[in-house]
Amino acid sequence: MSQQVKIEILEKNNNNLRIIVRDADVQLMNALRRNALAEVPCMAIDEVVMIENSSILQDEIIAHRLGLTPLKTDLDSYNLPEECQCQSEFGCPQCRVTLTLDAEAKEGTRTVYSGEIVSENPEIIPVSDKVPIIKLAKNQKLKLEAYARLGKGKIHAKWQPVSMCAYKYFPKITVPDKKCEECQKCVDICPKNVFTMKEEKVEIKNLMACILCMDCVEACPTKPSPIKIEWEKNAFIMNIESTGVLPPERILQEATRTLGKQLNELEELLKAEPQ
Ligand SMILES: [Zn+2]
Repeated sequence: MSQQVKIEILEKNNNNLRIIVRDADVQLMNALRRNALAEVPCMAIDEVVMIENSSILQDEIIAHRLGLTPLKTDLDSYNLPEECQCQSEFGCPQCRVTLTLDAEAKEGTRTVYSGEIVSENPEIIPVSDKVPIIKLAKNQKLKLEAYARLGKGKIHAKWQPVSMCAYKYFPKITVPDKKCEECQKCVDICPKNVFTMKEEKVEIKNLMACILCMDCVEACPTKPSPIKIEWEKNAFIMNIESTGVLPPERILQEATRTLGKQLNELEELLKAEPQ
C-alpha cells in the first residue's frame, strides 16, 4: 500500500524552510533528515597551498578556517571528485574551483575577511563576506591558493549544507471547553506561549509552537488535568536551516533523490544475490 505524502509550507525564505509533512512516518522523516545532514553535497575548500604566511597563525589553522567558510554551491555544474571523469587527484574544471587570497597589512593591524577571497568562478564565493579569516599585524602578509570541491557531510562537517535539520511530531492539544479555575498556570508555564486566556477560558493561540513538554499538564492544579497533549502519528513539522550554500528546498529535494538512489541500489544488490 502506498500513500501520497502531503506537504504544506509554513515558512520559507532564503535560508530556512519550515513544512508540515502529513501521511509520512518516522522512518521516512529520519532518513530525509540524515540524508540532508550527511549525503547532500556542497562546496568547501579542501586544499590550500600557502605561498606566503608571515602571520602568527600556522598554515594548518588558516586552512581549517578556510575549509569551514561556507561557499555558495552550484550542484548542476560540478561533479563530485570521485564521480568526475577526470579521475585526477588534482581535479579538473568540472570538479574543482580555485580561489585565491592575497592580503597584507600595510597601514597597521587589520582583520582579513572572507570577502577578500577571489574565486575563478563568480558563482562559487563565500556565502558571507564578513567571516573573519585572520588578523594581520603591520607588515604581515598572507598569500595563498585554495581548491574547493564538492563533498559530503559524512566525510567532514564542512560539507554539511545545513546548520539545522530537525522534525517533530505535529501536536494535538485538547483544552477544556468550559471555564476553568482561572489559575492561568498552564498559560504562564508554557515556554512557547501556546495558550492564552480568553473570557476565563484557556485557548490555543499557537498550536505549532508546542514542543510536547507537558509542563502545562503538570502545572494544572486539577488532577487529572483537563488539558490533553497528544501528537498525530503520521504528521510532522520539519525545519531545514541552510548554511546558505544551497536553498533549503534544494537540500530537501537532493535528500529525497539520494534516498531513492539508495533504495534502488539496495534493490539491485538484492537482485544480484543468488537465491
Ligand atoms: Zn574532474
